[in-house]
Amino acid sequence: MVETGTKIVATLGPASWDEAVLTELVQAGLDVARINASHSDHEGIRRQVARVRRVAMRLDEPVAVLLDLQGPKIRLGKVEGELTLAPGDLLTVVMDPDVIGAGHRVGTTYPEMAHDVKVGEVVLFADGALIGEVAQVRLELDPPEVDVRIEYGGVLTSNKGLNLPDTDMSVPSLTAKDRRDLEVGLEVGVDYVALSFVRDAPDLLELIEEMDRFGRRIPIIAKIEKPQAVRNLGRILDHCEAVMVARGDLGVEVPIEQVPVFQKQIIRQAAARGALVITATQMLDSMERNPRPTRAETTDVANAILDGTDAVMLSGETSVGLYPREAVATMDRIARQVEASAYFRPPLPSEMPPFEGLDDAMIRAAAFTLRDHPELPLVVFTWSGQAAIKASKMRHRSSIFALSPHPQVVDQLKLAWGITPMVVPPVRSIDDLMIAGEQLLVERGRLRPDQEYLVLAGRSPMRAAMHLLKLRRVGDVGTPRR
Ligand code: PEP
Repeated sequence: MVETGTKIVATLGPASWDEAVLTELVQAGLDVARINASHSDHEGIRRQVARVRRVAMRLDEPVAVLLDLQGPKIRLGKVEGELTLAPGDLLTVVMDPDVIGAGHRVGTTYPEMAHDVKVGEVVLFADGALIGEVAQVRLELDPPEVDVRIEYGGVLTSNKGLNLPDTDMSVPSLTAKDRRDLEVGLEVGVDYVALSFVRDAPDLLELIEEMDRFGRRIPIIAKIEKPQAVRNLGRILDHCEAVMVARGDLGVEVPIEQVPVFQKQIIRQAAARGALVITATQMLDSMERNPRPTRAETTDVANAILDGTDAVMLSGETSVGLYPREAVATMDRIARQVEASAYFRPPLPSEMPPFEGLDDAMIRAAAFTLRDHPELPLVVFTWSGQAAIKASKMRHRSSIFALSPHPQVVDQLKLAWGITPMVVPPVRSIDDLMIAGEQLLVERGRLRPDQEYLVLAGRSPMRAAMHLLKLRRVGDVGTPRR
């Protein structure tokens, strides 16, 4: 069966990290396994990566591994039982993580809060379930305190999240925990790293610097979940390979009704810059508990695909839900329907990355050829993956096979829409590469005898392979020299 163009990212957790379940998820359409560092210790990260690698090897199917760093997620401290807050109440947030909350007092894991906030700024608790605004800041106390006037009340329990959408926060995006988690991720060879609560380009530069210190650079996914990130997206895209529309925190940090428009804006802006996009959070939320999604969830997945996302993501559905396999299979079926419909159209030229200079001339030529001949498969020989990703932005329904000698590039390409990546053995010349590539695709039943196909070769260390576009027919080749 032909793969969907849209890729599926699934978060691992107790419901899915068992190798038998993981195998079923890959067979159902999982392309990228997400490890959430918020819920994994170092041993857990190592174990999960090893399991994914074993399953991928057994199934002979590449799977990318994404390590999602927690970032500066702010939380309240522990509370005795629960705190009940009514509109008009003053809640005192004490700049000490160890204060045990009671009555109208609670601690926080972010002691800089008192220095960062200003009177009148909004404070959200428990993913926006309770809302208030800063009434008073008492820096003279030790530890300092912030009084928040509650506007929408409710009940607070231990360790609930706290969001400050209006505040310019002094905390770095890359925390000490993130640095330690990143080191483990790089050591065990994860394929992507996602950075939470990105605000602007310097957050990414810090991550790049940290990777350089470890001597390993992998592609970055910037999680867009703060209003500042939406405003600074142009600069953020200068320093990352992909973005995630992280609707969970975004829906708390901006008025919820702005999320759908921001989703479209982020997807379009990223696509126009050649970056990959994941749309995330609550896509099939009810499938944590039910074997079937709601109509609204089904439509949400479909609309994200029509917006142009490369990948759709599952979180609780696969990490702690009752129906992880069904959730992946459901996304896969929705993607098939949408991609086969008349509503799924290639983007306008203004929504695609510009094909500039001689580097892109052959990709552009391939794009025009495939537009007129959608039945032709495209075989891309790619070293860094860039030529294949650019080709995928055209959203043609022709199969795109991306062949690379680098296994990690092959895994990374699992995130790019419409690409079926495979490892080709290293050979000495472009002619040998084409022969080896064709043999592989025929062996795997991806090309038929006598079938015509297009070959595109991107930038490579082999000078002859640069910028090559050819029309070939299966069988018009000899045997590769090793
Ligand atoms: C989100 O906020 O939507 C998200 C994906 O991040 P996390 O699951 O880490 O909160």
